[in-house]
Amino acid sequence: MRIYTEEHEVFRRTFRKFIEQELVPHVEEWEEKGEIPREIWKKLGDQGYLCPWLEEKYGGAGADFLYSVIINEELARAGVSVAVGLHSDIIAPYIASYGTAEQKQRWLPGCASGDIVLAIAMTEPNAGSDLQAIKTTAVKEGDHYVLNGQKTFISNGISADLVIVIAKTNPKAEPRYKGISLIAVEAGTPGFIKSRKLKKMGLHSMDTAELFFDQCRVPAANLLGMEGGGFFYLMEKLQQERLISAIGSQGAAERMLADAIEYAKTREAFGRPIGKFQYNAFKIAEMATEVEIGRTFLNSLIADHIAGKDIVTKVSMAKWWIGEMANRVAYQCLQLHGGYGYMEEYPIARFYRDVRAHTIYAGTSEVMKLIIAKRLGF
Ligand SMILES: Cc1cc2nc3c(=O)[nH]c(=O)nc-3n(C[C@H](O)[C@H](O)[C@H](O)COP(=O)(O)OP(=O)(O)OC[C@H]3O[C@@H](n4cnc5c(N)ncnc54)[C@H](O)[C@@H]3O)c2cc1C
Repeated sequence: MRIYTEEHEVFRRTFRKFIEQELVPHVEEWEEKGEIPREIWKKLGDQGYLCPWLEEKYGGAGADFLYSVIINEELARAGVSVAVGLHSDIIAPYIASYGTAEQKQRWLPGCASGDIVLAIAMTEPNAGSDLQAIKTTAVKEGDHYVLNGQKTFISNGISADLVIVIAKTNPKAEPRYKGISLIAVEAGTPGFIKSRKLKKMGLHSMDTAELFFDQCRVPAANLLGMEGGGFFYLMEKLQQERLISAIGSQGAAERMLADAIEYAKTREAFGRPIGKFQYNAFKIAEMATEVEIGRTFLNSLIADHIAGKDIVTKVSMAKWWIGEMANRVAYQCLQLHGGYGYMEEYPIARFYRDVRAHTIYAGTSEVMKLIIAKRLGF
């Protein structure tokens, strides 16, 4: 199925070159530092690689969703864990969809230029999958909301200039989801504390943080959308969020497979390339089949998403299946590399640990199955 035009392909080649020149040579340094320098966000913004879909009046290019797909795919294939997809295609759309004219004017140009890095804070120490159980409150006092609570595992949490916080404006609401609102909190607001940068298994260049809100007074003008509408907004945006996640998993799987095929053709044992052993050739054949199935499924979902179809069930299937598939591929590809696979000199070691998060963030595989089952009537 051809979904890309020649213009998309030109854009892909240009972006790939940008990644090779500006990002790949620095990956090891950023992985060690645990963050990506701010000027990279600016460079991405200068080249139009952040929020390309945004209207021109906000600094975007008004581009179609395929440009976002290309950016996410190419970053995933390169194995660069900079949370561009999260910033551009998961968080910024909340501002674009639910923000007032004033909020859009205030924040969106910075999102496109790289001057404003975004994070979204849903998860708490005792509420992840069960989002409605969050305890963070935002109590209205005059023309401010006063936030109190704790968030954890927040991607870009340290580098963020603006965090969309999911909080309860009405903790007593029944059903619980009716009390949830989205509030944009700017870095530097008194009472907003960026606490620990969390040490994690992979995705080292992307900072992940614990955040605290202690009597944090945020202007009521920072409420996104309607008070009590937060859960509805989150549900509405889940389709694209999970599609972006599946695109990342698929891109990583394709890269790992390509590297492993190359390695299996050149590495010799017992006098022949290891790929010539039928056991290994079969493993590669199995992986290539799974990767192809993932790609075909994903491309059909991308086309449906662009067509505006409700594909929440299928996207949930893709998020769990492709996320798990990428992990199976990671395991087998690392195995094919033997001892070298365990060493940092080959990218497979990094891919292996990075894809492990894919079955957890943006909704776990189990939560995806809950959604699928529910939509099937269970
Ligand atoms: C690298 C990384 C980045 C992240 N970035 C962000 C971010 O930017 N913003 C943010 O808000 N959060 C972020 N998260 C948090 C992530 O969304 C949560 O970790 C995830 O939703 C799971 O929540 P939890 O960790 O509380 O696990 P829990 O909800 O405690 O789940 C524990 C286990 O129980 C299973 N489980 C839970 N409920 C059920 C059920 N009903 N049926 C069957 N099994 C169930 C889960 O699938 C899981 O296996 C990130 C996490 C990681 C690892």
